[in-house]
Amino acid sequence: SAPGALGPDHGYGPDIDHVLLSEEQIRDKIAELAAQVTADYAGKEVLLVGVLKGAVLFMSDFARALQIPTQMEFMAVSSYGSATSSSGVVRILKDLDRDITGKHVLVLEDIIDSGLTLSWLLKNLGGRSPASLEVCALLRKPDAVKVEVPVKYIGFDIPNEFVIGYGLDYAERYRDLPYIGTLKPEVYQ
Ligand code: 5GP
Ligand code: MG
Ligand code: MG
Repeated sequence: SAPGALGPDHGYGPDIDHVLLSEEQIRDKIAELAAQVTADYAGKEVLLVGVLKGAVLFMSDFARALQIPTQMEFMAVSSYGSATSSSGVVRILKDLDRDITGKHVLVLEDIIDSGLTLSWLLKNLGGRSPASLEVCALLRKPDAVKVEVPVKYIGFDIPNEFVIGYGLDYAERYRDLPYIGTLKPEVYQ
């Protein structure tokens, strides 16, 4: 397809194989998720925990779509593995700046693939006595069913392809694309 028709592509157009989710589809889904979360947390204050760096664009749009007061924290983790898959061995690169005891924590993730990163993260955060702990992930891949991770809010179930854009990178590139797509095979060579 022609990504140019879908808005600015930051010059990445020639690298894109196909667009999986357009800017508009993402916007509509975020509005839907935000309405759900707004209703579920009525009367509460929510602490959004964004997982760096992939969830940054999602968190920014999601927080603005919510109609409840939220606070923001970020965590950066690295899961040892190749550029395109994770191993489940997780290391904290940047921890939360404060205590989450008694807080209603909503973890925002870009994508759940094997689910290993998230499973580790939930165990870690769950040990810090939050009042509640839930996950909202924009994308989920089929392999995620293999690991039992309770994810309350899911944007899209997508096929088992490596995707980039809207926060998701390949070798730190393409995070700034407004849509989610796949790369041409030659980009990986
Ligand atoms: P998991 O531990 O669930 O296998 O992987 C989680 C992390 O791997 C995600 O937060 C993301 O950083 C990376 N990841 C998994 N699948 C994809 C993908 O299709 N595209 C990109 N860019 N990153 C992915
Ligand atoms: Mg992530
Ligand atoms: Mg990455």
